[in-house]
Amino acid sequence: MSEQKLFGTNGVRGTINDSLTVDLVLNLGKAVGTVLGPGSIVVGRDSRRGGEMFTRSVIAGILSTGCSIIEIGLAPTPTLQYNVTRLGCIGGVVVTASHNPAQFNGIKVMGRNGIEVTRACESEIEKILYSKQFRFASWDTIGSVNRDSNALRRHIDGIKTHVDMKQTQERRLIVVVDSGNSVGALVTPTLMRELGCKVISMNSQLDGNFPGRPPEPIPDNVHELCKTVPAVGADLGIAHDGDADRATFVDEKGNVISGDQSFALIAQRVLRKKPGSVLVTPISSGNLIEDVVNQAGATIDWTTVGSVVVSHRLEEIRGDLGGEENGGVFYPPHQSVRDGPMTSAQIVEILAAEGKTLSQIISELPIYHTVKTKIPVPSEKKDRIHDALLSLTKDERRITIDGVKLQYDEGWILLRPSGTEPLYRCFTESSSKEQASKLSQFGEELIQKAISQIR
Ligand code: MG
Repeated sequence: MSEQKLFGTNGVRGTINDSLTVDLVLNLGKAVGTVLGPGSIVVGRDSRRGGEMFTRSVIAGILSTGCSIIEIGLAPTPTLQYNVTRLGCIGGVVVTASHNPAQFNGIKVMGRNGIEVTRACESEIEKILYSKQFRFASWDTIGSVNRDSNALRRHIDGIKTHVDMKQTQERRLIVVVDSGNSVGALVTPTLMRELGCKVISMNSQLDGNFPGRPPEPIPDNVHELCKTVPAVGADLGIAHDGDADRATFVDEKGNVISGDQSFALIAQRVLRKKPGSVLVTPISSGNLIEDVVNQAGATIDWTTVGSVVVSHRLEEIRGDLGGEENGGVFYPPHQSVRDGPMTSAQIVEILAAEGKTLSQIISELPIYHTVKTKIPVPSEKKDRIHDALLSLTKDERRITIDGVKLQYDEGWILLRPSGTEPLYRCFTESSSKEQASKLSQFGEELIQKAISQIR
């Protein structure tokens, strides 16, 4: 096995029976048990194809190192994370490829704080895997597998302790939940019902072919939800990604709310309760969150892009809230990781408290327009594009802590390689829609120029 980096932005991902095989996952299990053990590890999975075989492989590998397993079965990633800390386990493993297309699956590894392990720990796992220095247990210390069927309930009850239930139950909102044929369906509809909402479920049958829509809850993939919300007279639409750590919201008119907007709404509420809060967010977040934070006299702690970085930073500085432009919100009083159902409960609470429609609340925020595009790049050139971009933009006002963020009077452009796929992401933002598109076009041209400069 050649020594390549296995972990991307969020765990190990690969195409099923191709770059991600049962043999690789078995060895990953042995390496995870060797590095994290001894102790109990929580294991769960989403609805993807191959989930059962990879779960069995990873469990076999972990067991061989003497760790024991608490198996929670089908569950969102944040449900597993919540259970790792509540059950006092040493870590967790989720078999998921999050928002990737259906042919992908993967492995996310959590430490004892429920957060995905640090880059240093990932390197340690890779080192053990490639060197085969597994710590196998003696025959009489092999661990066991215990099924836990209360994981979903524990998570739902945990979220409810952070919500003003009386207020949400009085408002009796109508909510459409689009779980995208995955595990969000096991938590969010029940949670919403218990918050007093009338729930209409879409794509709630678990199916790894994702017949309803692709697993990433971006505007292009949630047209059905956007049509359904106004058609049934609902107040809110919620769409999760494959492992339900993210939530995208749709207002009562059928408009998709951007991740920056939902993060800003939750930030406003947190800042009202606790002025002077510290918010943690990656540089891909836009001006809106800066406006909200400045208005409240609070502080932003900027990070590189990636939810794991935000989670660890929140713990390190005891931050009050974290957020990402893709719809991930981190609420540390609950847990310092992205949690789609928790985020949904917070939006419901805001609607109940304000007594206004979601479109009214959003219209009170400053307006920025964003354009997000993905530009396929040749995999063999991906690593060298960054250097080419640096030399192409050396005279611009820019931030280079992660990718290249170019700042202009009209707005900004962020060009970053995807951690999991052979593509570059181009984000632009401006107070004018036209300028945002122009910047996006310019960003794409820069990437094409960079590609053509590499031989
Ligand atoms: Mg996810």
